[in-house]
Amino acid sequence: MIASFVNAHVHLDKVYTLDLIGDAAVTAYTGEQMGGSMASSELASAVKDSYDEATIEAKARRCLLSGLRHGLRHVLAFADVDTRAGLRGVTPLLRLLEEFHGVIDLQVVAFPQDGLLRDPGAEDLVREAVELGADVVGGIPRIEYTDADAREHVRRICELAASTGRRVAMLVDDSGERPPPSGFGSPSRAMGSVPGSCHGRGRRSCLAGIA
Ligand SMILES: [Zn+2]
Repeated sequence: MIASFVNAHVHLDKVYTLDLIGDAAVTAYTGEQMGGSMASSELASAVKDSYDEATIEAKARRCLLSGLRHGLRHVLAFADVDTRAGLRGVTPLLRLLEEFHGVIDLQVVAFPQDGLLRDPGAEDLVREAVELGADVVGGIPRIEYTDADAREHVRRICELAASTGRRVAMLVDDSGERPPPSGFGSPSRAMGSVPGSCHGRGRRSCLAGIA
């Protein structure tokens, strides 16, 4: 057996875009603690205004090939699926699934970066992305405005995953300025707190990476 590397969290729809958004997003993300992550996400969202599928596909391919040369064989690739990005971010990554089949174990996460309650319409887009072939349903409850909305976010993501037979990659510990709702202290507790929910649907590599 040959040892290989795993990247369980790469925003493959936004690689090689620093020239488009400048250093502000990186500074916000790394400047202090995770408190800047909300500002960073919003700054990085600017790249979606000039998103086009051909460019995303080329940059994502370049990233995967670069990783491959260094022994990367397993990738959990997040693609923003929201009303700003539409399906423009996820579609090119789905095309790469076939291209890299047998070379890199690539899984595509349909990720509602701007929330579900905060971004009406995102949930339908995530479902559509799954129907197009996305392997995993993403979640980020802390992006919602209130704890109640965050809980509802988790419930809806788990329900969508269960109804489509998909697994979940839920980011629940980078809570930024607002602490996670009580009971959301760990990924497993967050997902287990939803009645009839995601039991057994967590993406182990992702959850372990953020626990
Ligand atoms: Zn991320």
